Amino acid sequence: MCGLCLPQCPTYLLDAQEAESPRGRIAMAAAVAKDTVTATPALRLHLDHCLGCMSCEKVCPAKVRFGELLVETRALLGPSPARARVLSDVVRRPSIYRWIRAAARPAPIRRLMARVARQLPRSSAWRAAATILLGRFTKNGALPAPLPPQGASMGPSQDRVALFPGCVASVEDAAAQRAAATLLRAAGYEVTVLPAFCCGAMDAHAGAAASAQASAEAVREAFAGSGASQLVTATPGCLSTLRHALPERSADDVITLLAARADRLAFRALHERVALHIPCTQTNVARSDTALRTLLSRIPGLDAASLPAQPTCCGAAGTHMLDFPERAQTLRDMTLRQVTALAPSRLLSSNVGCRMHLAAGMTPETAVPDLHPLTLLADQLESP
Ligand code: SF4
Ligand code: SF4
Repeated sequence: MCGLCLPQCPTYLLDAQEAESPRGRIAMAAAVAKDTVTATPALRLHLDHCLGCMSCEKVCPAKVRFGELLVETRALLGPSPARARVLSDVVRRPSIYRWIRAAARPAPIRRLMARVARQLPRSSAWRAAATILLGRFTKNGALPAPLPPQGASMGPSQDRVALFPGCVASVEDAAAQRAAATLLRAAGYEVTVLPAFCCGAMDAHAGAAASAQASAEAVREAFAGSGASQLVTATPGCLSTLRHALPERSADDVITLLAARADRLAFRALHERVALHIPCTQTNVARSDTALRTLLSRIPGLDAASLPAQPTCCGAAGTHMLDFPERAQTLRDMTLRQVTALAPSRLLSSNVGCRMHLAAGMTPETAVPDLHPLTLLADQLESP
């Protein structure tokens, strides 16, 4: 009840209402659990507006486990009516997503999509999805093949890691997956790629508990068959659900592992100023933001300038950018003003969803290329 979490909450910042704050959501969750309130559409909307950024959890002196409370409350209420269900189902299936992406690539199709999107209301998930997708038609390449450690025979079993590629990240950020494998290998790890793409986060956050559990089971099975002792991901947004899927085993951010062996990695100089966006889940869940800054500081000449008002959610927040595009765009505009003020040549962020959302809000005057920090680190890695 102390209220220390309120100033940290992006939705409280937007609405200045108790019902849009962590403390208000906890009161609503408690009332739902005790069955003392009717779960009206308005109550559900306040819970659905939560970005799951976990900024509240990080500052809470009473160690309230807000993330678990939110997921359990949404599961109690069932699948969210606000969810862009068809779109969620597409993006978490890489084979379908890749096919749609390829089909939308020709210029006439893109022009048609842009024209149709402009006719839709600004609150439309389809308009948001088309705008985000239209901005990204770079060639992404394939996921990495299983790799032994570099310049060494197979190491002890604790050095075998399974890389979780993610759903959208495996398509839109395949370069980051390859970079993660290259860097891990250079740090002495044997790397295999997990044949499971969905961690279940989208379902868990939308109240679809059964689908989330099915995804967790698929991750457990794939990990058991991988022969690895540790699960790693380059997408910190997946980490919370991966840790729930494997409570007995270790799941961590690639960046944390690399920083622990930073002395094994040498980088070529790069005289460039980049803007460093730290996704909420990197700082509040993976807690690898310091590790990332340590790694980037090892590139001689690199000026990695953090956004001044972090941590504040950019609004992407999983499917929030599709479910509530107008709210997401307000938060995005605040973040983009900070990026522009830094006058960077490129934008770094570990979350491809954040990067896609931010890129879709850039104008031709303010646009800068974006990439995963691991991609930059792998590009600058000295040859062994
Ligand atoms: S998770 Fe983020 S958006 Fe949700 S209540 Fe906590 S601080 Fe606010
Ligand atoms: S969730 Fe934690 S920080 Fe927020 S009001 Fe409750 S005790 Fe305070």
